[in-house]
Amino acid sequence: MRNQLVATIERKGITDKKVLEAISKIPRHLFMDSSFVDFAYQDKPFPIGADQTISQPFTVAFQTELLKVKPGDKILEIGTGSGYQAAVLIELKAQVYSIERQKELYTRVKKFLPSVGYVPKKLIYGDGYLGLPEEAPFDGIIVTAGAPEVPKALLSQLKVGGRLVIPVGDDVQVMTLFIRTSEKSFEKHEFGDFRFVPMLKEKSNNR
Ligand code: SAH
Repeated sequence: MRNQLVATIERKGITDKKVLEAISKIPRHLFMDSSFVDFAYQDKPFPIGADQTISQPFTVAFQTELLKVKPGDKILEIGTGSGYQAAVLIELKAQVYSIERQKELYTRVKKFLPSVGYVPKKLIYGDGYLGLPEEAPFDGIIVTAGAPEVPKALLSQLKVGGRLVIPVGDDVQVMTLFIRTSEKSFEKHEFGDFRFVPMLKEKSNNR
């Protein structure tokens, strides 16, 4: 089933062999509620509780491809969610820092990810709009929720040469890549429309 999923996203245009290999290795069904196991290897997003979704595999692969992760890279993810995207980054041998604003999801993933062999550098319960200044700068930053605007903090926490991959927009988001070309300058590239759950301000206060 995993191989079929890889074939599907390859057909949709993903070419990076390392990304495809990572997806072929990760047991996505473990990142979802057990009742949804049958759906785990379809190329679709799915509910994970707290009104959130595990992203569609194609979208995860597309964003990961744009990040161009090298082994050892320091990567910040905004929106830990189910932990699946983080697992893909860990498969690519990145040092992963990931921020989630929903306590319930943060708590679940903190236990779950190491239990399936994926050990992030750090999971943070917090507001991704602020980034993670104490660990900056990063080789890459990936935002997995739809951002109404590009948070300045995230741009400022990139290394020169670093990449920010962020879906920007309200109802529909344009996948956008920023490359920091110097202390003061950024290149911007756009890659078509996607739909994400919204990037919300501040931590949620549930549980
Ligand atoms: N990367 C996740 C996708 C989860 S959906 C996965 O692979 O499963 C997006 C997530 O972003 C949700 O869990 C949502 O709670 C979170 N989120 C939204 N706004 C945020 C913010 N300001 N800071 C951190 N996380 C945020």
